[in-house]
Amino acid sequence: MTAARPRNELFLRYMGAFEDATRHMATCLACMRATPCEEGAPVLERFARLQDAYRQHQLKQQR
Ligand SMILES: [Zn+2]
Repeated sequence: MTAARPRNELFLRYMGAFEDATRHMATCLACMRATPCEEGAPVLERFARLQDAYRQHQLKQQR
C-alpha cells in the first residue's frame, strides 16, 4: 500500500469497520437486537461514524 489517497484510506477504514461490526453482530445476540452490548457499542458506533463520513465524502465528490 504505497499511493493511498485520502479517499481510499477512508474507504478502507469504512470497510474495516463494516467487517468488525458484521463479525461482532454475527455472534452477539444483544447487538442483533436493538441494544448493543458493551463490546459491540463502540464497534457499531465507529462503523456508523465512518459510514457517515464516507457518504458525506461521496456527496461532495458528486458535486
Ligand atoms: Zn455485542
